[in-house]
Amino acid sequence: MDESALIRRFFDGLGKARTDVVLGIGDDAAVLAVPEGHELVVTTDVLAAGVHFPNSTRPEDVGHKSLAVNLSDLAAMGAEPAWATLNLSLPQVEPRWLEGFSSGFSGIANEFGVQLVGGDTIRAPLSIGVQLCGFVPKGQTIRRSGAKPGDGIYVTGTLGDAALGLLAAQGKLQPTDGQTPYLRQRFERPMPRVQVGCALRGLASAAIDISDGLAADLERVLSLSDVGAEIDLGALPLSPAYTARLQHGIDRELAATHGDDYELCLTVPPDHEIRARKIVDGLSVGYTRIGVIESEPGLRVRDHHGELCRFASRGFDHFRSQRQG
Ligand code: ADP
Ligand code: MG
Repeated sequence: MDESALIRRFFDGLGKARTDVVLGIGDDAAVLAVPEGHELVVTTDVLAAGVHFPNSTRPEDVGHKSLAVNLSDLAAMGAEPAWATLNLSLPQVEPRWLEGFSSGFSGIANEFGVQLVGGDTIRAPLSIGVQLCGFVPKGQTIRRSGAKPGDGIYVTGTLGDAALGLLAAQGKLQPTDGQTPYLRQRFERPMPRVQVGCALRGLASAAIDISDGLAADLERVLSLSDVGAEIDLGALPLSPAYTARLQHGIDRELAATHGDDYELCLTVPPDHEIRARKIVDGLSVGYTRIGVIESEPGLRVRDHHGELCRFASRGFDHFRSQRQG
């Protein structure tokens, strides 16, 4: 199969057919119409085999995740997703793998109204680079730099499930109670909180998506906002599957530091907290207050007994360590 046959078979027309795509796949570049009164928001993330996903990951899950992680970034900006491009490095053309990848990608693209409008395909070790564009009404992006002392700190969903899902995928978790499929799903098919991010435009003062661990990602918000924070480990939202393992060598620190959950961490000024909660309650996504922004720099963490504590581990950093083989 040559390159253009491969593109036609697996990528042409993937996702939702959008009316704002003036010209999609097939020309030298795509042509896209940003709606009047909006700003373009652009993000990109690369997933490499053996670094971001174990080599044994199902192609459907790789396709899903490669778009999901980008959707999560747009969610954290409060942006509506619209157009994606896909840079694919393939060691060889394996139709079964490509079919799976394309079906995982198109499933989540359709769900979030995204159209694939271009890309590039080369032969090299497996990696997937997705660029995602979306838009927001002018001046309304939620930035990392907007947190102010007194703002409540919130997270969506539950934390730590992806950490346990990775352990399960590596065969390092006792499959005690039938919850392994749930945990693996949370690791392999994260659900970006796009609706929450968009709904909290104009209410949240800052937001970030939790890819590298709550502690590390919240610290990014703190340093860009020139503030500090105190959070309460006992308040972290944990799933029943995670809670069940608290007595079995799994602690709350893992949920606060591992990452891969792709939940949002948001700060909300006191004046907006009630309205924000009402809005998110209508979206059937968990939304939990875990702490407060303070003027003193640094992140202070209270354990579930109320004592100040320190984490032994830090969030993930590509240039410090490798964690998935
Ligand atoms: P060029 O050599 O001019 O860059 P290509 O042959 O690479 O053209 O691509 C032809 C068309 O197919 C372009 O519109 C490009 O955006 C699209 N395309 C290439 N690879 C992919 C891919 N992996 N996913 C989506 N579109 C792709
Ligand atoms: Mg090209």
